[in-house]
Amino acid sequence: MHDVIVVGGGPTGFVTALGLAQAGLDVCLLEAEDAIDQSPRACVYHWSMLDGLERLGIREEAERAGYTKDDYLWLVKQTAERLPYDLKVLSAVTRFPYNIQLGQDRLARICEARLAALPNAEVRFSTPMTALAQDADSVRVAVEGPDGPEFLAARYLVGADGAGSAVRKAIGLGFDGMTWPERFVATNVRHDFESGGFGQSTMVIDDRWGAVIVKITRDGLWRCTYMEDAALPEATYLERMPEAYRNLLPGEGGYELVRSSPYMMHQRCAESFRKGRVVLVGDAAHVTNPTGGFGLTTGLFDAFALWPTLAAVLLDRADRALLDTWADERRRVFLDKTSPQACAYKDFVFHARGGGPKLEAALDGMRRMVRDPDYRLERLMFTKGLETMSPAER
Ligand SMILES: Cc1cc2nc3c(=O)[nH]c(=O)nc-3n(C[C@H](O)[C@H](O)[C@H](O)COP(=O)(O)OP(=O)(O)OC[C@H]3O[C@@H](n4cnc5c(N)ncnc54)[C@H](O)[C@@H]3O)c2cc1C
Repeated sequence: MHDVIVVGGGPTGFVTALGLAQAGLDVCLLEAEDAIDQSPRACVYHWSMLDGLERLGIREEAERAGYTKDDYLWLVKQTAERLPYDLKVLSAVTRFPYNIQLGQDRLARICEARLAALPNAEVRFSTPMTALAQDADSVRVAVEGPDGPEFLAARYLVGADGAGSAVRKAIGLGFDGMTWPERFVATNVRHDFESGGFGQSTMVIDDRWGAVIVKITRDGLWRCTYMEDAALPEATYLERMPEAYRNLLPGEGGYELVRSSPYMMHQRCAESFRKGRVVLVGDAAHVTNPTGGFGLTTGLFDAFALWPTLAAVLLDRADRALLDTWADERRRVFLDKTSPQACAYKDFVFHARGGGPKLEAALDGMRRMVRDPDYRLERLMFTKGLETMSPAER
């Protein structure tokens, strides 16, 4: 019997598994697909998460694999107003006053390589979990591996299997919330954004052509995410992309589309993050629209607080009720902070409604952030507020 089975080889599953395995637990990670998903998805690790990566021993490698950045711009398309700022004020509160830009697949691959070097960790691809049952002592799962069906058991199970979580469904937890009427289109593209005056991270504020445009590799690959009406057929989104790019890409030069992925956005949260010996992290527990990059941030903070808690329960016989404290605190963070702020950012960037008092009020906040370093620090501290300590370590 394993100590912990982690279902799902996305970033939160891999980070949780690495923390647990490095703490000395016997961990088995199950991933349904035959490799880590490489589609364009989350790619920013806010400064506030770097302590958590450092504790796992992977901050430096993540920094080398990606790149660090602190250059931000809010750009109002209609008026061409530019609101640039950097993160230098953060040096008052952290050793790492910058964000890391790195595809989530690459973060998962860093963890995968570390796990491969540990005798107490096993990563199994092409092995979806198909059923789950638990009793007072253990969790048992059925999997469909390359060699056929199999049964595995563990003392605890972490559901890190994404928004459609089979784990969440198997333990009968609801996933209340709403689905947005718009579709996001995430594209990886090569284009000379810098000569067009864009910052490394640029939020283009506009009710028709709002976009989040971020440089994601040192050698000039950019993520350009924009929105379209979800009533338009998804199958033909590529046909509409040239028009979107005509409006989104600055300057005259051409572009090379490298990858793209349309996706529906939701605001949803599981009714609990724990049931018995099963806990949920990341998108299995909560999903948000990605404006501001708070979704994976919250998911990784779930993981950073979970692995020491589970390790304390399993290795030090700490009270299992700590897992309830963990679960309640992580759920409150999502409902009270992550979700409202991601919705406010989406509204600000993509629904400027041709200007007006609402946009002006939001822009006034940004203008103050640009000119007032104390206020900038206060605003930048928001993502630190998405962190909770492991209740086992207070
Ligand atoms: C196209 C797209 C773009 C995005 N862009 C951004 C962004 O710019 N910023 C941002 O913050 N967020 C973004 N997100 C959201 C972000 O990608 C998620 O928050 C993040 O992937 C959550 O990580 P996770 O590990 O919890 O789940 P996932 O990454 O979804 O990983 C879940 C894993 O579980 C596996 N799995 C599923 N079922 C089973 C099973 N039964 N057995 C075993 N394995 C299973 C899946 O194959 C998958 O590998 C985007 C999402 C999408 C879809």
